[in-house]
Amino acid sequence: MSNKQTFIVVGGGLAGAKAVETLRTEGFDGDIILFTEEAVRPYQRPPLSKDYLRREAGFDQCAVHDENFYTANNIELHTSSRVVEINPATSKVTLASGEVFCYTKLLLATGSVPRRLMIPGAELNGVNYLRDISDADNLTDVVTATAGAKRRVVIVGSGWIGSEVAASIREMGAEVSVVELASVPLERVLGTEVGSFYRDLHIEHGVDMHFGVGIEAIRGATSVEEVVLSDGTVLDCAVVVVGIGVFPRTELAEAVGLSVNNGIVTDEYLKTSERNIYAAGDVATVFYPFYQTHIHLEHWSAAINQGPIAARNMLGISDIYEQIPYFYSDQYDVGMEYTGFAPTWDQILFRGNPATKQFITFWLDKTGRVLAGMNVNVWEVAPAIEALIRSCKPVDLEQLVNPNVDLASLV
Ligand code: NAP
Repeated sequence: MSNKQTFIVVGGGLAGAKAVETLRTEGFDGDIILFTEEAVRPYQRPPLSKDYLRREAGFDQCAVHDENFYTANNIELHTSSRVVEINPATSKVTLASGEVFCYTKLLLATGSVPRRLMIPGAELNGVNYLRDISDADNLTDVVTATAGAKRRVVIVGSGWIGSEVAASIREMGAEVSVVELASVPLERVLGTEVGSFYRDLHIEHGVDMHFGVGIEAIRGATSVEEVVLSDGTVLDCAVVVVGIGVFPRTELAEAVGLSVNNGIVTDEYLKTSERNIYAAGDVATVFYPFYQTHIHLEHWSAAINQGPIAARNMLGISDIYEQIPYFYSDQYDVGMEYTGFAPTWDQILFRGNPATKQFITFWLDKTGRVLAGMNVNVWEVAPAIEALIRSCKPVDLEQLVNPNVDLASLV
């Protein structure tokens, strides 16, 4: 490989960091440049709503690589560097500082940005979003102060951010209210039955839950004092945390006409519609051969697995992205892993009793084919769930729900 080549990665999240690592482990000896807007080296985001938020883990435990990794591997890491333009015709990227860099191949791993709350009072001090490490640092400080002052935190949205942050903040000792438009937490992904399990879990830990309502306004002189819900309820509080979804950061790609559909569209090799440009992680909408369709996922596992595949394809090693989607969540003493992809389903079955907080849930189609499975406080079964999904065959439902039957034997 010629050392005249320059591979540029835009975005210092997990996908970008794993990509540059893979370029070197696969033997690339050209120049590698990684641009990140953040002031620190790449880190993993899952701890930001969990142990990092609770100050049970520090930055080094979240960092993707140790401090010396980039220098030791001759990778140019440019922190606090925002790319404002890409030019596929000239193979150049331009930074906010005006500096211009040429690339041979380019990976866009720009992640996503939180959806903002657009209501009166949304700009008051005390309204927080959680995306990067500085958001987490700030949130920990304000929650600690709020807990000390016996004031309340209101969380808007009970998706993954809302649910995990609610659990962490309760564990930090603050009073918490959750406001959610749906009828239970995580309803869109898990459905009402399984979402009810999480609702009950939060109620058991003293969270004040408000479902089927939105938030009309946030009031306060200069900082948050109360929030007004759409049913007229007024909640006294000092802090608001907003977790109402994210948007993929596709603006660089859109500006130059790359194909974008709720994410930069790629094929199964993570190649975009433009020669020499790849995309991975939250920002990508990837063709999944197993599902024979493009899927946009914002999972940690997509970032960690897509970065290396994109890197290998940038090097000309033809490697298809064929992961089955996977993510995990920890809330209080309940850990879970979700394997599969089930935007719709016909039936939900339980192996074990949710009341014991130790069970597996399956989402199936009407033929009895497993589309997805979620193991809750039951471990080392995710590979068997994945094998059931990959088999694409109806399973014996009686055996599926029987905890005494080895899951792997059903494949
Ligand atoms: P999310 O998981 O999409 O959840 C957003 C929630 O907010 C949904 O339940 C949504 O309801 C609700 N909502 C939307 N507008 C609302 C409003 N005006 N008032 C009240 N509720 C409202 O997004 P997120 O929790 O913000 O998480 C951001 C990203 O980080 C996601 O991509 C997520 O997957 C990722 N993340 C993942 C994990 C994990 O895998 N463990 C942990 C943290 C974050 P509808 O669904 O009805 O719109």
